[in-house]
Amino acid sequence: MKITCWEKITKKEQELIKKAEEVMKNAYNPMSHYFVGAAVLTKEGNIYVGTFAENSSLGGTICAERAAILNANSHGERVFKTIVVIGAHEDFIAKEPVTPCGLCRQVISDFAQIGGKDIAIMCVNTKKNKIYKTSINELLPLAFGPKDLHMDVQKYQ
Ligand code: ZN
Repeated sequence: MKITCWEKITKKEQELIKKAEEVMKNAYNPMSHYFVGAAVLTKEGNIYVGTFAENSSLGGTICAERAAILNANSHGERVFKTIVVIGAHEDFIAKEPVTPCGLCRQVISDFAQIGGKDIAIMCVNTKKNKIYKTSINELLPLAFGPKDLHMDVQKYQ
């Protein structure tokens, strides 16, 4: 993992962060009051966003990263290059970047196997002076996934 900051990333990466940050405020979070936004960059170069949405059953809660991935899937895109996540409490100040939960790591990993490539992950604090640049293979090594099920992943690209 590399730790970087706003000034040292590409314009495209900055655009992804801006889009994730824009939707972060739309989080539906009556229980945790925690805000998260995510943006995915697809192989086609499109950006899709997602926002954290809690559910009274708790188990029905959907993280921003999965919401963004499913938004892309709704548009017929399943091959991802980069996923950005940003989160904070109600004061919108997070000194440390938020990282994807275990469930999201599994979902991202499945799509990495479908795409046949590792997916870059950027976790950003609200000041953007601390950005983790990592990848799903680094966050979830030795992952179980479509390859174990002998899925024809190309069919789903
Ligand atoms: Zn998650």
